[in-house]
Amino acid sequence: MFQRILVANRGEIALRIIRACRELGIETVAVFSEADRGAHYLSLADEAYCIGSAQAVDSYLLINRIISAAEVGGAQAIHPGYGFLAENAKFAEICRECDIEFIGPPVAAMNGLGDKVSSRIVAMKANVPTVPGSEGLLKDEAEAVQIASKIGYPVLIKATAGGGGKGMRVARNEQDLKIGVKQASQEAEKAFKNAGVFLEKYVENPRHVEVQLIGDQHGNVCHLWERECSTQRKHQKLIEEAPAPTLPDDVRNAMCEAAVRLAKSAGYYNAGTCEFIVDKDYNFYFIEVNARIQVEHPVTEQITGIDLIESQIRVAAGEKLPFQQEDIKRNGHSIEVRINAEDPDNEFRGSPGTITKLRIPGGRGVRFDSHVHEGYKIPPYYDSMVGKLIVHRPTREQAIACMLRALDEFVIEGVKTSIPLLRKILRDPTFQAGQVDTRWLERTLDELMRRD
Ligand code: ADP
Repeated sequence: MFQRILVANRGEIALRIIRACRELGIETVAVFSEADRGAHYLSLADEAYCIGSAQAVDSYLLINRIISAAEVGGAQAIHPGYGFLAENAKFAEICRECDIEFIGPPVAAMNGLGDKVSSRIVAMKANVPTVPGSEGLLKDEAEAVQIASKIGYPVLIKATAGGGGKGMRVARNEQDLKIGVKQASQEAEKAFKNAGVFLEKYVENPRHVEVQLIGDQHGNVCHLWERECSTQRKHQKLIEEAPAPTLPDDVRNAMCEAAVRLAKSAGYYNAGTCEFIVDKDYNFYFIEVNARIQVEHPVTEQITGIDLIESQIRVAAGEKLPFQQEDIKRNGHSIEVRINAEDPDNEFRGSPGTITKLRIPGGRGVRFDSHVHEGYKIPPYYDSMVGKLIVHRPTREQAIACMLRALDEFVIEGVKTSIPLLRKILRDPTFQAGQVDTRWLERTLDELMRRD
């Protein structure tokens, strides 16, 4: 087992990893940017090194500085968390070349699943249902038109390198499509330095359901069941839960088995997530693999009792998974809400600033994963998430009730947050009936905001 791990991230996930390491008796080396200097969570690491200025490109994305910090700090492994360098195969490769284990999948699997088009091809080969669309990248507009006429409009133009909901465009007719392909490609070039786009049938009002995977380096891959993340705004998840509320068991099983098949055929190990969209008839289609730990991993931990960060560290150290598929049971229902410092009255713009008052809810079934505290100054340079409030109760109904009372207890002052909106969503009859699709929040937002 590793004696020291460098945590190549910041905020709540850095703290989550530091905590897991402490419980395992592993020392940690933290890194931070000038903007995060003095953050309280850094004092929980055994050492902390400044790796640059506030902008992520000048700190958290600088491979050479992170490797240097690992070497100076004597770390044998690096946990990348999510975002930043977590899905950067080059980074993983450099770590391993420097004899520092990258706590994540093998480089070949990261490359194979790294962009949406190549992972679609891996999925097709593994007999995992994909959304009808182009087989590879689009060559030109004419090819797009030809494919769209075959699969039928509406279609979705997607950037192969896209992420975080960026680089997607719906086309409802040929004219939209021709313009869209050009614009999407230019946008993708600008945002991701990769102009490649492809086409998928646009599934109207789908649900987003994803399967958590964990594999070891001895060929064992298990799924840890699914999460539903349909409550999204602009393709950004806001609420996640496990199990998916209305998913029939046969669909759940087929989806989980498909995800394991895909991981095995890609030679995958460590933690990963296979994302699907599900149409109104519960047909499911693979959309992408997230080759890293995800923000919403706690809901899976709650219902399975398995610590995913610990599992990641153990399998990276070469240990075998301590369980088999049939040992992984589901227990109760878990919901996570993302508490973001943003202003719903101002287009959900980030609302950085100092938290002047903070009272965190507690009690049975409540977990709060966050690095913030009273007096904490939220820097404007990174994402706006200040924490994740997670509940776990025997039934979904009880979980919703528990979340509502926890949100009622939550006091945060000095910055605007998503809490008022989250409360309205959780009280909404459509949400309570488990009938939310990925477009629901956008359709309902204005009306929801007017409610008390
Ligand atoms: P990103 O990597 O940018 O997050 P994804 O491929 O994971 O992109 O898709 C993000 C979201 O976009 C999904 O959760 C779903 O809501 C929507 N989406 C993706 N593909 C389709 C599709 N073919 N039809 C309809 N909606 C889709």
